[in-house]
Parts: sequence; structure tokens; C-alpha cells
Amino acid sequence: MKLTRREAIGWLGGAALTPALRLVAQSPAAARPAFERGAVIRTLLKDVDPASVDGPVLFHEHLSIRYPMTRAMAEAQGRPAPVSYSDDVDLMIAETKAAGADGVRCIVDGGHPDMDRDLEALKRIAAGSGVHIVASGGFYMQRNYPADIATKTADQIADDLARDAKAQRLGAFGEIGQQGGVLTDDERKVFTAVGKAQKRTGLPVFTHNAYSGVRVANPPIPMDAALKQLDVLEAAGADVKHLAIGHVCCLDDPKAEIAQQLAKRGVFVGFDRVGINVIIPDEKRVAMILAFLEAGHADHLLLSSDFANGRGLKKNGGPGIGLTVTAFAPMLAKAGVSEAVLRRILVDNPRRFLSVVPSA
Ligand SMILES: [Zn+2]
Ligand SMILES: [Zn+2]
Repeated sequence: MKLTRREAIGWLGGAALTPALRLVAQSPAAARPAFERGAVIRTLLKDVDPASVDGPVLFHEHLSIRYPMTRAMAEAQGRPAPVSYSDDVDLMIAETKAAGADGVRCIVDGGHPDMDRDLEALKRIAAGSGVHIVASGGFYMQRNYPADIATKTADQIADDLARDAKAQRLGAFGEIGQQGGVLTDDERKVFTAVGKAQKRTGLPVFTHNAYSGVRVANPPIPMDAALKQLDVLEAAGADVKHLAIGHVCCLDDPKAEIAQQLAKRGVFVGFDRVGINVIIPDEKRVAMILAFLEAGHADHLLLSSDFANGRGLKKNGGPGIGLTVTAFAPMLAKAGVSEAVLRRILVDNPRRFLSVVPSA
């Protein structure tokens, strides 16, 4: 990617960088990871050498979405078509470009057709912003499923997922979710299908949990919901090195015990709703991350903000799509997380998660 002069100067540690990004940018090059020979990050516009993505990667945001009400759900309920902050593609180009100016090099969009994600919009955003965009495939949760999920087998769904991924240059499967604390039969089938599709394509998978943070859920969400998701994906043959169990930061678990159990099984743990303080305050997320890092799991942490609310756009006075690096990373730095560890978390871990060797 060609940088403007201002971006290039900024990236070398100049005044354009926020303090947290300067920390990340200045960490020693010797710590850079080696990637598997031939590995790429499959972005919508082209395959990219992971070593060239030398800045923060946000692995779960929404640049094209209708949430919570989709077109199909509105139609079924006889309601007018819902509107979304992301309907204005020119605005999303400007906001994504602004995230790029904040240092973000690559964004994974966590939507797919059953969340009204528009692939053509994402292509325009990628081309217009200069930020690499990875698009995802899959299904969200029970209430969003198309009717034929109920009648297809897991193998048929896996076939569909692998075929669409190839045809549409999808670089991940996600977000793959569940509506409540326990997987429905259809959700279990979709998780199995996604695990099979991961095994076949090598593409990374990230999930959605129903953890409700400090809010009381009725019925309560079982603490081990994240572990149960992993059980299903692993049983279907998925490679733990390319799995991220998401929204683990929305579990009120002060010692990060569930996060640690996940990391011990080899997967990435998604602290991917940073900034969403109504579910759980960021201060609690920071404390959980410190416990997780002190237990030696830095290489298993992924950060993102699950951006899905127009109030967060810079145009509306919000922190913008890059808030993970501009607002949350500084909290970690202030809490004592070193520049080298921050770089591993924001740059190296997501590159490893996303890197795949394309099948012939
Ligand atoms: Zn989610
Ligand atoms: Zn999401």
C-alpha cells in the first residue's frame, strides 16, 4: 500500500501518531514473526503478504450491516425497511480512511448475508480508504438464519460455505454466533459446518457469544458457553490456530479463568467489544487482560471493538472505527503493558490468525 507523506512520517514515529501507536510502531523489528511459506491474508481486493501488513489489524468490526433488525426480519414482521449507519457507503469510506490515519492497516468485517452485509459496499470501502478489508462468510445466529438451514445437513452447509468463500474471495468465517446461553440444534449444526469448512479451506473463524457482562441475563448465560463453542468446532476438525472465540471480554470473569482455559487449548481469545461499556466497563476488560497476560497468554489475545453503532462514528462525535488503537490500547499501556507486548497483540497475533496458505 502506498502511504501518503503524512502517513509515512506518522508511521515512522512522528507527531501524527497517538502515544499508544508510537509505542507499537517503535517496538523492535527482531520480534517480528515468521509466517508459513506461501501464506497470505485474503483481503477482498487481493491476497496480501502478511509481513507487509505492518500495523494494527482489527479482527471484528462492522463496516456493512443492519443490526439488530435486518431487511428479512423487518419484512417477516411487516415493518418498514430498517436503516443503518453503514448504508452511506461514502461516509463509511471516509470513516475507514480515518481509521487508517489512526494507524489501522487491516479490518475484518464480521458480517455476512444474513446480517445484510453488502460485499460491493465493502469493495468500495477497501478501494476508497486504502485500508485492507477482509470479508467473511457464515451465519449469525438462530433468529437470522435463512429457512433452509433447518433442512440442510452440516456437510451441505459446509459445501456452501467453502464454495462461497472461494467464489467471493472471503478471508474468514465470522461472526458465527449463538442467540442464548446454549446452542440451539440449528446453531450446533452451523458451528459443525463452519468447523468442517475451516478444515477444508484453512480460513480463520471467529465466534459470537451471548455473554452479558455486568447485566443480568434471564436465563443466565453459562460461564462455559465459550468452551462449548470450541468443543463443537474442534470436533468438526477445525484447526485451533485459526480459531478465535469471541466476546470473551463480555464475561464478568475477573481472573480471566475462562479466557485462560481457552488459550491453553490453543485458540485465540477475542476481547473484541472494547469500548462497549454498557455490557462491561473497559476498566474490567483491562484487569482481565492483565490477569491473562500475567498467566503467559499474550500470544493468544486479539482485540477489536465490534463496531456496530453509528454513534461511534467520528462524524457523530465518536471515537471512530479505530478506537481499539486510539482509546483502548492507551489504557493497556497506562496499566503497564509494554510496547513489545502491545505490538504482539495488535499486529502479530491477528496476522497469524488471518494468514492462510491457499489450497491449489
Ligand atoms: Zn457479536
Ligand atoms: Zn459483531
